[in-house]
Amino acid sequence: MSGIYVHIPFCKSKCTYCDFASYPKEIGKAELYFACLYKEMKGRAESLDGYTFDTVYFGGGTPSFVDPKYIYGAMKQLKNYYKITNDAEITIEINPGTLDENKLKIYKAAGFNRFSVGMQSANDEILKDLNRIHTSKQFLEACELLKGENLSVDIMIGLPDQTEEDIKKSVDLAIAGGAVHISAHALKAEEGTPMYGRYLNGELPSADEVADMYDFTRNYLAKRGFSRYEVSNFSKEGYYSRHNLNYWNRGEYIGFGVSASSFIGERRFTNTEKIDEYTACILRNKVAEIYGEEIEGDEREFEFIMLGLRKERGIAFDDFKERFGVDFREKYADKIKQLSPFLDITLENIAIKPDKLYVQNEIIIRFMD
Ligand code: SF4
Repeated sequence: MSGIYVHIPFCKSKCTYCDFASYPKEIGKAELYFACLYKEMKGRAESLDGYTFDTVYFGGGTPSFVDPKYIYGAMKQLKNYYKITNDAEITIEINPGTLDENKLKIYKAAGFNRFSVGMQSANDEILKDLNRIHTSKQFLEACELLKGENLSVDIMIGLPDQTEEDIKKSVDLAIAGGAVHISAHALKAEEGTPMYGRYLNGELPSADEVADMYDFTRNYLAKRGFSRYEVSNFSKEGYYSRHNLNYWNRGEYIGFGVSASSFIGERRFTNTEKIDEYTACILRNKVAEIYGEEIEGDEREFEFIMLGLRKERGIAFDDFKERFGVDFREKYADKIKQLSPFLDITLENIAIKPDKLYVQNEIIIRFMD
């Protein structure tokens, strides 16, 4: 099975840490953007004829910020041109303060059955500091509309002046809102964002402090009945994100819209981040790719290990053997021995120990050295 990702590059305003392809001042281009998005969907359909998709994810940007007729139209286009299973997981990202009853009705009519709400923090001071457009009260109002739905909530850790008490309140508020899935990402101060200046000024928590916050979050979420299935993702039993799990299983996916990435037939490719460049390419019947690369033999294996070790369950030996024709334990016997203090090994699989998962990058680098 494979996934579809659709990028909506519009937001009401820019958060101070954000380096995603989202353009608050470009909302006037929405009509043209969506016309091109529909065209791109149609244009790629023939080459993906043999594919069946069991997840669809609308991310951004803020998909819930734009007129819902565009979202409805995009889903309709996907259903017209692609084989999407009846039980597909179909997710839309929502920002509190941009959802209303009418929009939700349209999303549901379009087929969305999973809603991912960006709360980030329960502390209104922190939300203001991040230039988020909403308050914690607005988060709860959005959740009230989404009552009974399959709800995922994003929270952030590693924020300036954030305390463990703040994190606890974020988790509690997400659960009070009805979350069955919580993503807890650590802030990354990306160059070019206002947050980067604060990082240079030493205003952000240190790496050790963030690691402590992460451990606190992980333990607190476990107490509240959320199991981790990937470094930053936690869910109630059975509510893991199928769409994201497909990425970590090195499954195929197609992305539409600006900055969208795809992985099809051992080729990775990415669209331009610029709306004008994207629409100009699509209008001229060209692909809007700015990057494309065939993934060769050894690299495939490296990717599979790197992505697999992000997951709580790690890498299954039989899956590895089926894909690469060799026994993982034999091929990597030396590395397994060297890194054994960091690894859990059973008869079926190998994974990074739960309390070491946060430093998985360092472990993976040593593994692949
Ligand atoms: S809502 Fe999300 S995509 Fe939009 S500016 Fe904030 S972080 Fe970026």
